[in-house]
Amino acid sequence: MRSVEPVVHLTVLEDILRIPRASSLMVLTFGLACCAIEMMAAGAAKFDWGRFGVIPRSTPRQSDLMIIAGTISRKMAPTVVTLWEQMAAPKWVIAMGNCAISGGPFAHESQYAILNGADEIVPVDVYVPGCPPRPEGLIQGILAVQDKITGGQKNNVLRRFDRRRGDKRDFVKRIKRID
Ligand code: SF4
Repeated sequence: MRSVEPVVHLTVLEDILRIPRASSLMVLTFGLACCAIEMMAAGAAKFDWGRFGVIPRSTPRQSDLMIIAGTISRKMAPTVVTLWEQMAAPKWVIAMGNCAISGGPFAHESQYAILNGADEIVPVDVYVPGCPPRPEGLIQGILAVQDKITGGQKNNVLRRFDRRRGDKRDFVKRIKRID
């Protein structure tokens, strides 16, 4: 399934809006199975995805990021599609965990109740593999969504932590060279 592109593009305005849009992702609060526990951990005190501007919302109308965390049963699929349709554009989707990517351990010929991946029903932007992925993996996936919104890592202000770490490594290298 593909997302619908806007008919008119206001390029300069869109470029300006990219950075705040990427830095304040509003995640729709819902979970489907065990991966959702790791998603909750990513938002709790230890991992604290709020550091990356992620804000959980309880309504799809105020959300722009859907994290499909868990197994998608055929019974649940229409509800997931309805939630995605209720989100205002532009919007992004993360498929978290092997079940949301490809059906995970349920993907075998004789099963009839589980979808073989979220991309059968909604357009997925980023896939976070694992069974379940750790919260750090999900946060990496969120940063990848932000990179996609800003049009590359260099424009993502939230990557400044990476850049600083890189600078520090360079600094250590320089010191060693001097020694
Ligand atoms: S990928 Fe693993 S942990 Fe995640 S929902 Fe499926 S079975 Fe559970």
